[in-house]
Amino acid sequence: MPALTSGKVLVTGANGYIAVWVVKTLLEHGFSVRGTVRSESKAAHLRKLFNSYGDKFEVVIVEDITKDGAFDEAVKGVDAIEHTASPFHFKAIEPDELIVPAVHGTTSVLKSAQKYGTSVKRVVITSSTAAVILPVTEPRVLTEADWNEASIQEVKEKGRDASAPAKYRASKTLAERAAWEFYEKNKDTLSWDLVVLNPPFVFGPAIHDVDVPENLNESAREWYLNVVKGKLDNDALATVGASHVDVRDLALAHTLALQKPEVAGERIIISAGAWKWQDFVSAAHRLDSRLPAGNTSYDPTKAVHLVQYSSDKERRLLGIKFRSIEETTKDTLEDFKARGWL
Ligand code: NAP
Repeated sequence: MPALTSGKVLVTGANGYIAVWVVKTLLEHGFSVRGTVRSESKAAHLRKLFNSYGDKFEVVIVEDITKDGAFDEAVKGVDAIEHTASPFHFKAIEPDELIVPAVHGTTSVLKSAQKYGTSVKRVVITSSTAAVILPVTEPRVLTEADWNEASIQEVKEKGRDASAPAKYRASKTLAERAAWEFYEKNKDTLSWDLVVLNPPFVFGPAIHDVDVPENLNESAREWYLNVVKGKLDNDALATVGASHVDVRDLALAHTLALQKPEVAGERIIISAGAWKWQDFVSAAHRLDSRLPAGNTSYDPTKAVHLVQYSSDKERRLLGIKFRSIEETTKDTLEDFKARGWL
């Protein structure tokens, strides 16, 4: 694919936490955007937010992304697709509540792009490090070569009794695998190539439609509860962690993934680094002493991160200068303050 520097991009699930930032960043970089949402009520906030872009931004309704043909109309006339729509929550009883929309939503958009996306040059899928992570007992740096087979296995063996993270992670792994299988099988006949982005936890300010902190998306709500509300005990603050990326940096990754011809066919981890919850709590407390201090004996230099993610490929292909924990924390707190949540 040649570099795509303008044209129309279809963004699925355009009302989501990450997707609204993706839409904003695409518009700021000169693209037009067609966003899909499930119902008319979810379109109003987007129309208002991007009103200044006039006809460079439009919203279409795709009621059920799991149906074959769901995106047949939506893909017509677009130059690229960013597929972000997928359930991210830990409330599912049956694994299929997550797996069916994740997998069928993905294959549905790819099939529509194959049939009717004659002008599509690239499809970018928002996967996750949930599709990469492995159970490890010694510290290890995971790369794009790693696949989370363990969660698929757990869900197969335990069904509805599998852990909540395993159900979500299996949905992301199966969806990403379905995308690569579809692409490998059909690539000789497609007008487009495929890029998959694998972010870990995504944090940072919200610009989607959200009224109260309890209704934030999963990752931002977790951040609010742990950093602002002090939900975790001292032991957990110092030992529980993961990796993260700021939502605005991830949105930039989605834009660069269209602009760079050389990322064709690549799976790319988009991670700013590993942390323990206390790292965010300390940053927040330094900025606002009313917020919990957390575990004051925590020493970040002694923290053990069993899983870390390689940024080699991201650095080589995209080269994003990631926001620090301090920057993300500062801007998130400012957002919360502006909303009256602090
Ligand atoms: P979000 O705010 O909950 O957005 C999810 C989007 O997917 C919404 O537009 C939602 O539509 C749509 N969606 C969910 N279930 C659907 C279904 N059954 N049918 C149709 N649409 C459905 O979550 P997010 O954090 O922005 O996540 C966006 C993507 O990033 C997901 O693919 C997620 O797996 C991935 N991701 C997120 C993180 C993170 O930390 N946030 C990390 C790695 C990867 P409705 O609003 O109508 O439900």
